[in-house]
Amino acid sequence: MTDLSGRRLLLVHAHPDDESINNGATMARYAAEGALVTLVTCTLGEEGEVIPPGLAHLAPDREDRLGAHRVSELGDAMKELGVTDHLFLGGSGRFRDSGMMGAPQNRRPGAFWNTEVDEAAAHLVEIVRDRRPQVLVTYDPDGGYGHPDHIQAHRVAMRAAELAGERAYRRDLGEPYEIPKIYWNRVPRGAVEAGFARLRAEGGAGFPAVASVADVPGVVPGERITAEIDGAAHADRKRAAMRAHATQITVHGDYFALSNGLGQPLLTTEYYELARGTGGAPAGEREHDLFAGVTA
Ligand SMILES: [Zn+2]
Repeated sequence: MTDLSGRRLLLVHAHPDDESINNGATMARYAAEGALVTLVTCTLGEEGEVIPPGLAHLAPDREDRLGAHRVSELGDAMKELGVTDHLFLGGSGRFRDSGMMGAPQNRRPGAFWNTEVDEAAAHLVEIVRDRRPQVLVTYDPDGGYGHPDHIQAHRVAMRAAELAGERAYRRDLGEPYEIPKIYWNRVPRGAVEAGFARLRAEGGAGFPAVASVADVPGVVPGERITAEIDGAAHADRKRAAMRAHATQITVHGDYFALSNGLGQPLLTTEYYELARGTGGAPAGEREHDLFAGVTA
């Protein structure tokens, strides 16, 4: 096993469940190898839809207690992944889920989308300067699929990375620190198309209908991918972490569905595009370690 002591990975996500869907295998791998894996979740996912009928009373238009429930789901998911360092940006409940783009919840006071980027970023700067990760993982500028909280998570993560390294910025938040490598979550079109082909060949794997490539966040041509992490050895942990988010996700074997019930492939190889920093693979090849080329 590679000695990963001293390696630190920070992931910034919008809602509980995003980390397990996007990065569950990567997180499990690095945690198992001894790296410090830190997850920052920006909201409690209060506006999510609830899959199990028995928990429908938690929904925001009824008791509005989904956030607290999702905190416990996230805790269970982190146990499955072996990750102990997880925080909510600004503390639990500081920023609220903004709902889908255009929803009235976007403009609610305290909604993440309705918060100044620099105000939210300051909370993350403090974490960056304390943990000093060599690698940051977040979404692309569109948040993968245009959800306001995902777009905002991208903006806040990128802004915090910038501010953390500025010598003159808020020394009360810690010593300046420059993150060497920043990745965006991506999915290569070929891999997701192949996954859908298998799913259709299996008759939908128990889901009433099958989603399409357009429903998958972050899909890009394969050439854009600069790193791929083979999570085969951690696939069961990723599945278990996704199952822990039971209000949001249903898992059937190698496939899963969100609240719309549409089956889609559960990818255990996870893909990234290097957005900032120097890669450890020759041009045109993919890295197989997010820390490749990191020296400190
Ligand atoms: Zn999300």
